[in-house]
Amino acid sequence: MVAITLENVSKYFGETVANYQVNLQVTDGEFLVILGPSGCGKTTALRLIAGLEQPSEGAIYFDDDRVDGRSPSARNIAMVFQNYALYPHMTVAENIGYPLKVRGFSPDERDEKVEDVTSLLHIEDQVEKKPGALSGGQRQRVALARAIVREPTVFLLDEPLSNLDAKLRQEMRSELKRLQNELEITTVYVTHNQEEAMSMSDRVAVMNQGTVQQVAPPQELYDRPRTAWVAQFIGSPPMNLFQGTRRNGSIDLGEAGTVDLSGVLEAKEAVVETSERDDVQSTALLASDTQGTVSLGIRPENLTLASTPPPSGNVIEGRVDTVEPMGEYILVNVSVNDQIVNAKVSDRTVSRGDRVYLTFDTNDAYVYDTNGDLVA
Ligand code: ATP
Repeated sequence: MVAITLENVSKYFGETVANYQVNLQVTDGEFLVILGPSGCGKTTALRLIAGLEQPSEGAIYFDDDRVDGRSPSARNIAMVFQNYALYPHMTVAENIGYPLKVRGFSPDERDEKVEDVTSLLHIEDQVEKKPGALSGGQRQRVALARAIVREPTVFLLDEPLSNLDAKLRQEMRSELKRLQNELEITTVYVTHNQEEAMSMSDRVAVMNQGTVQQVAPPQELYDRPRTAWVAQFIGSPPMNLFQGTRRNGSIDLGEAGTVDLSGVLEAKEAVVETSERDDVQSTALLASDTQGTVSLGIRPENLTLASTPPPSGNVIEGRVDTVEPMGEYILVNVSVNDQIVNAKVSDRTVSRGDRVYLTFDTNDAYVYDTNGDLVA
């Protein structure tokens, strides 16, 4: 087990100076998922850790050992990709034993290790088969077995489940998590799939445009997205953000209404100031500057719909655009100031075209400043 540190790592590809600047720490034995949209730089981060790419600037450490500049083979890492790349002419046992063979392990040692790892992945009865005779899920298990058989100190996975169907993907998620728990290998897993990230990780690193936006345990990421970008990326559908003008304790949303957040703003600002001083750079500024353009964030599950204006509390006015029954809940899209807002509700009490009043508990509201940083 090792801890991995990427310190001010930037990467330029040829003439293109991409905005790629990554600081990231993966702790000993941790399962860290790098999550982000296509092209944000997830695979590049993994390839930098593996040694398949070298940083243009910055340093990479495995514990206190500086590894950038070293080849992949000098790092004791194992990688599994979306495409499993098994040797078609070899049996499962030969495929799994191959990394040991090239490292000079004796046939007996190989057999013993292959037996251990096939039993760990529940593929003992497949060892004599060729990859062509296996299902997608079984091939994925063989690829995992081959990666872990030589006991790497770092396990790197790049979208390893994306070629599997939905049911199998779900099964393999739990399997991978179990495997990582048992082996306690420091693991970095790249995906653009939120469910995968949230269900498997100890912590999630959210990337956007070559930078890490936030690193946090899944629940914290959901409960306290530090930037408006993360807030709009996490959740299904993600958080609604209403543009408004802050006037001391209130947020003016134009025709949709005014939301009074006094008390909540003050209380949350105090918490942010004491607990996240280093993270939220704009806190000091906002404590004194109580005016300006802000975004009010409310998750779809925290909005309640009413057909008549409620007598008290915060109300945002809008018109129903679409009503989508999702089985578990009903998703209502409401047009507010020309913006579509998602509300997850349990009863179908409204129809397209209805004027509706959205209410919420102020404790469920988030406020982001002009730069998109969390204020409260
Ligand atoms: P995806 O989810 O689509 O695989 P990603 O988040 O893994 O995307 P990367 O593959 O790391 O993203 O790519 C990040 C950026 O760097 C992209 O703009 C990509 O075009 C660029 N890039 C990556 N590798 C190279 C390369 N070898 N040469 C030039 N540009 C590259």
